[in-house]
Amino acid sequence: DAPVASNFIRNIIDEDTRSGKWNGRVETRFPPEPNGYLHVGHAKSIHVNFGIARDYGGVCHLRFDDTNPEKEDTEYVDSIIDSVRWLGFSWTRPDDPAATAHLYYASDYFERLYRLAERLIELGRAYVDSQSAEAMRAARGSLTEPGTPSPYRDRGVDENLALFRRMRAGEFGDGEHVLRAKIDMASPNINLRDPVLYRIRHAHHHRTGDAWCVYPMYDYTHCISDAIENITHSLCTLEFEDHRPLYDWVLEQLAEAGEFSRPLPQQIEFARLNLTYAITSKRKLLQLVNEKHVDGWDDPRMPTLVGLRRRGFTPESIRLFCERIGVSKADSWIDMGVLEQSLRDDLDPLAPRAIAVLDPLKLIIDNFPEGTVEPCLAPVHPHHPQRGNREFPLTRESWIEREDFNETPPKGYFRLFPGNRVRLRYGFVVECTGFDKDADGKVTAVHCTYFPDSKSGTDGAGTYKVKGNIHWVSAAHAYAAEVRLYDRLFSDAHPGAGGQDFLAGLNPNAKRVVPAYLETGARALAPDTRVQFERHGYFVADRVDSVPGRPVFNRIVSLKDSWGK
Ligand code: ATP
Ligand code: MG
Ligand code: MG
Repeated sequence: DAPVASNFIRNIIDEDTRSGKWNGRVETRFPPEPNGYLHVGHAKSIHVNFGIARDYGGVCHLRFDDTNPEKEDTEYVDSIIDSVRWLGFSWTRPDDPAATAHLYYASDYFERLYRLAERLIELGRAYVDSQSAEAMRAARGSLTEPGTPSPYRDRGVDENLALFRRMRAGEFGDGEHVLRAKIDMASPNINLRDPVLYRIRHAHHHRTGDAWCVYPMYDYTHCISDAIENITHSLCTLEFEDHRPLYDWVLEQLAEAGEFSRPLPQQIEFARLNLTYAITSKRKLLQLVNEKHVDGWDDPRMPTLVGLRRRGFTPESIRLFCERIGVSKADSWIDMGVLEQSLRDDLDPLAPRAIAVLDPLKLIIDNFPEGTVEPCLAPVHPHHPQRGNREFPLTRESWIEREDFNETPPKGYFRLFPGNRVRLRYGFVVECTGFDKDADGKVTAVHCTYFPDSKSGTDGAGTYKVKGNIHWVSAAHAYAAEVRLYDRLFSDAHPGAGGQDFLAGLNPNAKRVVPAYLETGARALAPDTRVQFERHGYFVADRVDSVPGRPVFNRIVSLKDSWGK
């Protein structure tokens, strides 16, 4: 990977190292909620959290923030584990001989969280509120108006404890009571106006089943989970900045009560990733899947990690992208071109070259002897001659691109048209002599003659000056494949901006399926193998649908960015 650039988070950690605050310990965590598949925005967070832990010899915990039973599922847990591994990160400390997996679930802390909530009640720092949800909302006040204290705010400790225990015991229905922190109803920060810590939900949880009917809120769970796991730096996105005082308040109360020792974990916020021509909201991604605008979470058009993987993005290219965009304190938009260029930069030095003829048209060399096979050579990689040559045969009939022939060529067209000469790349110079049409006027074959002394790499080649150089595959040797030409999922750079429905920005041409003929050597490419099809871009053999004998290739990205900036 590229050398790591410094950033404000690393500066804070460096300062902590100098001051000895954590005795050199660096422990971070990535805390996804298992209510959907990870997307490219999460990749940034993963890269920040796991990358920092790795670089400081620490460990990053993978922690499932699973406190909303209705929305969560083990399907998502499994996929998240898979995606983080695929990106190349590990939740095991590199020098730990026992290889302890730092994989956690907030639901494993339910009992501890519950007891700590009782502690807060005993300390007079939490109370059971029995107002309706609407009444509570109305009493919260606004940015300009202070909130109104609940009539239940001064319940005694014993009454609160008894009620909270009955809440746990399942004696009440959903929404009848909540547990709230007792902080300050007049605070200018609305998050501190007696936030809810627990709510009643008679719902089945994917891990704890029906053991619980009270579930802790995110703000309460998160800071305590960090403290339980001895997290040093709790790195999260900017929308949590206003929640930091609550994070600190909860841990402060519990530290004063002797439940946690100091120093307490420090929350640090950074800007989330917004990517143009994409969306990074789980809710909207779910909508795309549910309404069948895409073929599932791993549709190659999706900005999910399973989608990017299937599209053909490498983990290296995504890490390179995260390195390039860096970490900052201010929200901004990153151009999709940066992600695509990272893929090109990763694959260009590696990907073997091959020929794919898309939308094929027959080319017949009328003076080429029937049954003759002329071997031609092309480099596996133009910049690495040591990787050798690929051999592909020229025969009397070839497949060329339909767009490489034009009956009535526009000005500046240098490819095949009657009377014009072009080079068959790596082969001979040919001159177009005519073409066949079917009853509908569609061109079905192009005829030409070749010059036997013009072969690439021979002395005669230089005497032919042609402007066009087209690619081809022998019709007798090529094999048919399905090629899926993917492009950006949205044609709108900022889908949904200006209050518009984000679905209006969908790109109807983000997937085009075309027939193709591939050079013989590409036949052996296993699923997930990446290749550059000359002229067309980078492709991967689809990990789901490509099977031997019936190959399917996805275009990951074209060779050049054709989207206007
Ligand atoms: P969404 O808003 O899409 O539902 P989320 O933030 O609720 O996402 P979580 O599963 O809670 O999803 O996210 C896990 C972590 O990933 C959080 O720490 C969150 O800050 C971070 N994260 C989510 N989206 C982005 C993003 N676009 N850029 C950077 N980090 C992100
Ligand atoms: Mg979240
Ligand atoms: Mg969310």
